Amino acid sequence: MRTPVRPVPSSWLIGVAIACALIAAAVAWPGMLTKVFVISYLPHGFCYLWNPQLLALHVTSDIVIFISYLAIAVALGIMRFRYRREIPLGWVVVAFGVFIVACAFTHLMDVVVLWVPLYWLQGDVKLLTALASATAAVALLFFVPKVGKLLAMARESKENERRFLAAANNSNEAFYILEPTGDDAGRIGDFRICFVNENGASLLSSTVNELTGKLLCENYPALRSNGFFERYKRVFETGQELIVEVPIRAEKIKASWLRSQVFKLDEGIAVSTSNISERKEAEFKAIKSLQFTRSLIASSPFAVIATDLKGVISEVNPAAERMLWYSREELVGKMTPMVLHDPEEVEQRAAELTQELGTLVPGDFSVLIANPRRGLTDEAEWSYIRKGGSRLTVQVAMTALTDDQQATTGWLAVAYDITERKRIEDYISHIAHHDSLTGLPTRTLLHDRLQMAIQHAERSKRKVALLMIDLDNFKRVNDLMGHLVGDELLMTMAKRLQSALRKSDTVARMGGDEFVVLLDNLHSASEAEKVAENLVALLSEPLTLNGEKHAVSASVGLCMYPDEGKDGDALLKNADAAMYYAKAEGRNTYKVFSTHIAAATAKRRKIENALQYALVQNEFELLYQPQISLHTGKVTGIEALLRWHSAKLGDVTPEEFIPIAEETGLIVPIGDWVLRTACREAKAIKQQTGRKLIVAVNLSPRQFEQESLPQIVEQSLAESGLAAGSLELEITEGILLSASEKAMRVLDRVRSLGTRIAIDDFGTGFSSMSYVLRFNVDRLKIDQSFIRNMMTDPNSGAVTRAIIALAHGLKINVVAEGVETTAVLGLLRAAGCDEAQGYFYSQPVPAREIEALITELERVVPVNA
Ligand code: C2E
Ligand code: MG
Ligand code: MG
Repeated sequence: MRTPVRPVPSSWLIGVAIACALIAAAVAWPGMLTKVFVISYLPHGFCYLWNPQLLALHVTSDIVIFISYLAIAVALGIMRFRYRREIPLGWVVVAFGVFIVACAFTHLMDVVVLWVPLYWLQGDVKLLTALASATAAVALLFFVPKVGKLLAMARESKENERRFLAAANNSNEAFYILEPTGDDAGRIGDFRICFVNENGASLLSSTVNELTGKLLCENYPALRSNGFFERYKRVFETGQELIVEVPIRAEKIKASWLRSQVFKLDEGIAVSTSNISERKEAEFKAIKSLQFTRSLIASSPFAVIATDLKGVISEVNPAAERMLWYSREELVGKMTPMVLHDPEEVEQRAAELTQELGTLVPGDFSVLIANPRRGLTDEAEWSYIRKGGSRLTVQVAMTALTDDQQATTGWLAVAYDITERKRIEDYISHIAHHDSLTGLPTRTLLHDRLQMAIQHAERSKRKVALLMIDLDNFKRVNDLMGHLVGDELLMTMAKRLQSALRKSDTVARMGGDEFVVLLDNLHSASEAEKVAENLVALLSEPLTLNGEKHAVSASVGLCMYPDEGKDGDALLKNADAAMYYAKAEGRNTYKVFSTHIAAATAKRRKIENALQYALVQNEFELLYQPQISLHTGKVTGIEALLRWHSAKLGDVTPEEFIPIAEETGLIVPIGDWVLRTACREAKAIKQQTGRKLIVAVNLSPRQFEQESLPQIVEQSLAESGLAAGSLELEITEGILLSASEKAMRVLDRVRSLGTRIAIDDFGTGFSSMSYVLRFNVDRLKIDQSFIRNMMTDPNSGAVTRAIIALAHGLKINVVAEGVETTAVLGLLRAAGCDEAQGYFYSQPVPAREIEALITELERVVPVNA
């Protein structure tokens, strides 16, 4: 606190004035006091006057005393004035000063009375001095305890100062005591550093010694430009304490942010400053990141919805408003996110979560936060219901909002619209699960549906039927009429299938011309059989392709759950087996899977397995059946017929294994072996018999798909040394019919080698004479079925005769196969058939027996038998 300024003249001046007034009065009225009591005196220094040295000593010392006393009084006066605030009982000092002045005058009087006998005045002075002495003595009595106090205060202040210094130096803060310094006009111009602690010095990049006594702003102009000076000045002037946090940028100040607490002292100000740069930077970073996060959320393309702990929406971003069509005001503080959810979905998810977590999750907001509560982010697909009721599919990530101490303060949902993605996903899934041509489900979807149907049937004790449908001769249509027509056929068949079934049934396309129908919820197998029968009839109805009417039939295999298959794979496998059986049974029919079919399938599988090793294990043999000219009775050729003596299965007939070899592709290596062996053995037979025999080798259509077939033929001829003209390749009508570019190219190349071409089993397919011409065929072999029935069926005879006549018209030889009786032979002869082959002449025989057979045949059978 500021000591109040005493009014001038101060008490000591009053004292001095009184003393002077008294002395003046005494001088003006000399002897005023002493005259009352004393009449006359001898001069005071009378006794010294005789001795001038003594006199000089006396006068000199009295004058010195006088001047010194005055000096002491002046010193006291100055002290009194300068330390008027600190010195208590100032009047005591004044009294003491007056006493000293009085003493001084007594000594002056001692000198004066040596020459001027002013004893009365001296007496007065003495009296006054006595008065002043007494007053001073009394006053000093008052002063003594004060002095004690003063000393104690001084001690205490010293201690305080020591403590203050210790505290200031140990303080983490920078501490300064500043004293204002003024300019000539009395204005504060700067602050002088009276005290600074180590931290304070260090903050200003200096030392305590260097700084003490320096002017603050002069040395650190930044403090002025940064407003510190003005603030300090204000504190000093107003006495109002100030706490500020101010940024600072100055070379010598090691801080970017300062926190200053400034308070006024008597003569200056105390400044306690701490470097808050780090804290501020952290704060700024936090603010920045908060601002960044806020701007991110605000500009986020995702809808962000924050809620409090109870689930009441506390914030939504613009994207959420855009997505949900609710305004911020409509949601914040009023709604929970449940307003956006479909209650049914919530219930369903609640049930799932209850099962997943093993605790009851109620169908409310708890569903959304069940996982976030456990510290997990809940990612789920939801339907959001917009204001107005429209829906959208969203992916929602729900997390807990936490504070610095990781305590949950609310929940945050980030949602984005996946309607478009869902649409694309659905589309992709549809494409993946549906055939692009017919739009029917594919194998994968069928498997799923089959699985579901089985599960359902298991619970309801009903039956499931699986129908495997394969179009007959589809390949032929495809090859003959092109893929576009083939596609059209498949689409028509798909539509027919769908139209014949219930909505709940599934029709799937397994690939190629294979369809599967899944019938659910059946009471008996007869229901399925009825459907199968209908389908066969429906599919075989004529249809128009490329403007022409065609009849394409289908073979259907039927298998029932649970009687004929316990799982999806077994059902598919057995339906497939039944379908094969239907095909084998003449097509355009359906077959129910049975133990018989199971056995046939098992056998088929066994053949398939054993066939793999047949070539390696050398289980094949070629037999030869002679062909006899009906004109000359001579053996003109031999047909090589394949035999398989399986080590595992015994002898397997070509009818059994050739279709399997064709399906599995094994016919290609087997066919190569047949060609090489037939060429080699035929060459040997020719050499043995010295006859010009033609060896006929059966080729499978599959072999014509091999580009290498011409090379193999060429190699076989080259290796054996057989002339190309002695080799006849028997092809079926199918190859001609397929007219596939590749097969035709291969056939042409084989033909160009000089080999002969015969068409086997002619009459069974749909080929016309134009094909026969186009490929420059050498022989036609009329199918056994016509020959066998010639005697009984007039049609067969007519067909045979027609073929012979036509072939002859084209200059093509005709061979009759399967001739077993003389009667048939007679008819063939009559029809003009060129050659015959059959059991009537001989069964197929091994190569080693052929020579003897030929001799025998030509001897026994007369030309016109
Ligand atoms: P294919 O080429 O039409 O052969 C004639 C079939 O009729 C032969 O049956 C033969 O043994 C039989 N056969 C001959 N004369 C008579 C007869 O008077 N009455 C009866 N009922 N049958 C007679 P195989 O050897 O069992 O051959 C059956 C079919 O297997 C052949 O029919 C042919 O298509 C095929 N095949 C035989 N060997 C081969 C071969 O090496 N390669 C190919 N791709 N197919 C072959
Ligand atoms: Mg043949
Ligand atoms: Mg034949």
